[in-house]
Amino acid sequence: MDCLLRWLVLFSAFLCLHSVWARQAPPPMEHPLRYCVDPDWMPYEAIDAGSHTGMASDYLRLVAERAGLDLELLPTQSWQQTIDALKTGTCQLSPMLNRSEHRESYLGFSDVYFYAPNVLVSRKDEPFLQGFTNIGDRLLALPQDYRLLEYVQKYYPKIRTLVVKSEKHGLQAVSEGKADLFAGSLYSVNAHIQQAALFNLKIAGWGGPQDELRIGVAPELTYLLPALNKALASISEEEHLDIQQRWINLRIIQNNNYDLVWQVVAVTLAVLLLLFIWNISIRRYSLRLATKNQQLESLRSQLEDTNAELQFLSNHDPLTKLYNRHYFNLRIQQEQRQSQQHDKTCLIILDIDHFKEINDCHGHACGDTILAELSGVLTRCVRDQDIVARWGGEEFVILCHQTELSEAGKLAERIAGKVRQRRFSGGLSLSCSFGVAELQPRENMTKCLERADQALYEAKSQGRDRVCVSH
Ligand code: GH3
Ligand code: MG
Ligand code: MG
Repeated sequence: MDCLLRWLVLFSAFLCLHSVWARQAPPPMEHPLRYCVDPDWMPYEAIDAGSHTGMASDYLRLVAERAGLDLELLPTQSWQQTIDALKTGTCQLSPMLNRSEHRESYLGFSDVYFYAPNVLVSRKDEPFLQGFTNIGDRLLALPQDYRLLEYVQKYYPKIRTLVVKSEKHGLQAVSEGKADLFAGSLYSVNAHIQQAALFNLKIAGWGGPQDELRIGVAPELTYLLPALNKALASISEEEHLDIQQRWINLRIIQNNNYDLVWQVVAVTLAVLLLLFIWNISIRRYSLRLATKNQQLESLRSQLEDTNAELQFLSNHDPLTKLYNRHYFNLRIQQEQRQSQQHDKTCLIILDIDHFKEINDCHGHACGDTILAELSGVLTRCVRDQDIVARWGGEEFVILCHQTELSEAGKLAERIAGKVRQRRFSGGLSLSCSFGVAELQPRENMTKCLERADQALYEAKSQGRDRVCVSH
């Protein structure tokens, strides 16, 4: 009996323990737990290319390993979607959020495993503030479904609030002047300011109670909380520091640096491209300029040649290349002005005999050649300082400086002799008649020329091929 009683006590104790164990033990999990996160709350957490990232992802991995949880991310587009999914039970867990009165109605919470201060953010030209009590009538932007909104509405109902979609939108609103202040978690605020380059913003003061971040689970999973708390408590200080250093410092700075590097690279490439285009245009322009310069140079050289030709033609006879009558007239006037009392100047005028017959018998071209050949004979016979010119037709004149009349007569005879001896084009013989005159003191050069012409006329009259001197 005693033994039976002992067995009964033992059996009832076993039943009692079993029922307690049965109540506490988690039901076996058939499917992985679906969890939702804030998709845009770095460095705490975010969704990057469909994967959970940020500090919460590291914490959740450790906790899942140590509590033996099988988890599956249900990606959402916003924190509001996450909150809705948690409320409706579509999601059963969220790894990093604050406890609030309202949230406690649909979630159970683990112990706090991460603390972070909240700050007020304003534009740089705004004054510093001590906290929510000094906000006055400034417009405070707060993200929808964040605990801070719930907190401000409950404890500071007079503060004017602008409800925004996310921390990023709130900071943007302050930067653009659509709101005066924003309140949010220090690390994520810092990350957003850096990444969006909102450099007109500053931390203006502390903003409400600090974040006390926990894991939230659906009501039917609260039995997991002891295991979760145990796993959280097992995270060593080194592991905490490792996670915080990895996400709070390095990752944010790396992102910023990448942005900055890309911006610098883009600007550098743009500048190089512009320089390259500029260089090409300059080269093309220089090439065009060089071609134009060459054309101009060639034109200038042609113009110089033409000018020289015109200059030559203005003073010379094109057929014989001797000076022309116009130039000879200028020179005899100049001679008249410059000649001194004692200077002797003579004029010789000569005319080809019967030249018309040469033209008639041998052609005009032959006559032209003979005119040019005779010019050569004349220039070779005279001195350098004498001037030979074609007076017109088959008549030539010679101005002899500082020459006695007798010397001029001898020169004329010498030329007559040379012409007589020479065989001209077509083997033709030729003769010339000469008239010689010396410029008398106070005599006009034209008058002297007339006397020389008169002497030529006499030479013609006396039978041609001779020299007549005017005395
Ligand atoms: P004279 O002995 O009296 O001087 O007789 P001439 O035939 O030489 O004189 P005339 O005045 O009768 O004829 C001159 C000729 O010279 C006529 C003209 O055709 C020729 N003459 C004038 N200028 C040129 C020219 O540039 N070229 C050629 N081929 N002949 C010319
Ligand atoms: Mg004549
Ligand atoms: Mg003649």
